[in-house]
Amino acid sequence: MPENDFAGSRKTLFRELERTVHDPKVLEVMRAVPRERFIPRELQEYAYDNRPLPIGQEQTISQPFIVAAMSSHLQLTKGHKVLEIGTGSGYQAAVLGELAGEVFSIEIIESHAVKARELLHELGFTNIHVRSGDGYRGWREHAPFDRIILTAACPRIPEPLIAQLAIGGRLIAPLGKDSQTLILGVKTEQGFFTEEILPVRFVPMTGEVEVGVH
Ligand code: SAH
Repeated sequence: MPENDFAGSRKTLFRELERTVHDPKVLEVMRAVPRERFIPRELQEYAYDNRPLPIGQEQTISQPFIVAAMSSHLQLTKGHKVLEIGTGSGYQAAVLGELAGEVFSIEIIESHAVKARELLHELGFTNIHVRSGDGYRGWREHAPFDRIILTAACPRIPEPLIAQLAIGGRLIAPLGKDSQTLILGVKTEQGFFTEEILPVRFVPMTGEVEVGVH
């Protein structure tokens, strides 16, 4: 589908986002990332709808508003090293890649990891590193991270991720199971402090985090 076919829906989407997300830099970057490339071909006409879309294997690409809100709360700069848990389509990683210095993203479903890695490479990103595996234990070789983002809902923030967050760092995550809240955590010398941002709905984090939680 030629890029022009998205012009109308893109305009509507960004007009809507401008009213709800007051972060011009994040919106500028999202305008530059072609969301249609991260979406299955048969759903491409919905690429600029402000809603999540299925990407296969019961996973979804997040709603643009949520990507914008989470990216904005992270207050990213080019000096930051970021860890993402839940690469999925790679769309959020691409937005992070434009805003931060280096992005490390972990995806538990190998086929999604492979696809996202290929697409991000094709789009010219050289600062985004994707690996498949359980993100519960983070990516120790590259820690500490200035920012950590989880895009799958967890019943509690995995301890190893808090440990891999730099002092002064920020972490954003959907917390909960059926009813979820987006939380923003800040790590200081005194500890890890969180505040609630808004109610959300994400696919659940799987793997080690599920052990012992039923
Ligand atoms: N950020 C994604 C949204 C992905 S949906 C995007 O922009 O498209 C959440 C993703 O988290 C799914 O692909 C799911 O497979 C992955 N996931 C779930 N549990 C995980 C875990 N323990 N480690 C890494 N990825 C996980």
